[in-house]
Amino acid sequence: MHTTPDERIHPQLHLNSYGYYLRRRFGYRISKVNVDAGFTCPNRDGSKGSGGCIYCNNVSFSPKETQAVVPLEEQMAAGMAYHRVRLGSEKFIIYFQKYTNTYGSVELLSDLYRRALDHPDVIGISVGTRPDSLEDDALELLTDIAKTKYVCLELGLQSMDDVILTNINRGHTLDDFIQAVKRASGRNFDICAHLIHGFPGESADEFLKAADLMAALPIDSLKLHQLHAVKGTELAELYRRGEFTPLTLDAYVATVADFLELLPPRIAIQRLYGSAPLDICVAPQWGLKNNQMWYAIVNELTRRGSWQGRRAVGN
Ligand code: SF4
Repeated sequence: MHTTPDERIHPQLHLNSYGYYLRRRFGYRISKVNVDAGFTCPNRDGSKGSGGCIYCNNVSFSPKETQAVVPLEEQMAAGMAYHRVRLGSEKFIIYFQKYTNTYGSVELLSDLYRRALDHPDVIGISVGTRPDSLEDDALELLTDIAKTKYVCLELGLQSMDDVILTNINRGHTLDDFIQAVKRASGRNFDICAHLIHGFPGESADEFLKAADLMAALPIDSLKLHQLHAVKGTELAELYRRGEFTPLTLDAYVATVADFLELLPPRIAIQRLYGSAPLDICVAPQWGLKNNQMWYAIVNELTRRGSWQGRRAVGN
């Protein structure tokens, strides 16, 4: 076991895991339960763009049991039962995950979020969205909810390079993300950023600059994953034509370990890899289960005798 100078760093994991952060903050084990509230995405329905991000197939990041046709309360009950048995969790954060979960009237958002919060074992909500789909009234709603409940706003950036954002048909810029973070900060709720590594034309060094960006912004937690192609996406077509070369597992693990060393300890780590059902995963196929991916990176930090933030500027 390695000792680090920072109590936010888990002594065995060598990073500030989100689970560790929640346990420090609330004092018990908390699980996130994914729900599909039936939203769509402005980058798919034509209002911001059409076709969506080139890697987007929402099936790849949506557990099978969450279907928009299933009432929210039923989805929550199934998810909570699963986590109670599997992890012994007592309390839950309901994660509005699929598509863009602020893309609707404030009345609709209020109804959905408050229905989730009505359950006595739900301590809060996490809301995944795009930085260009965050109206003032949605922000005010989340600010109001955060007075009594835990709230995490999850903003997808994916890449800080505007050329890459254009190439992947993301439909927003780095500046859109920075402005959204500024508007959302200081409201007593957490902000989580989403990043992806492995875009065509992106070097490891270019990706590592995102650690400095995260350090400079009021970001509380982070989700990171490798770019992977799933069936039915533009990215899978690029792969088929030889225009997308996925990262190797070793390269990804090394770069993520470098990234974590540059990331301040205050930023809790929600994810370190992406996963897709085997039947739709095209590439890369590293053949590791989720916890094996997580520990591949933890083990790399251990091998280096290192930890999150060891080379960070600030904390
Ligand atoms: S913003 Fe999200 S939901 Fe919308 S197209 Fe991109 S990946 Fe898909």
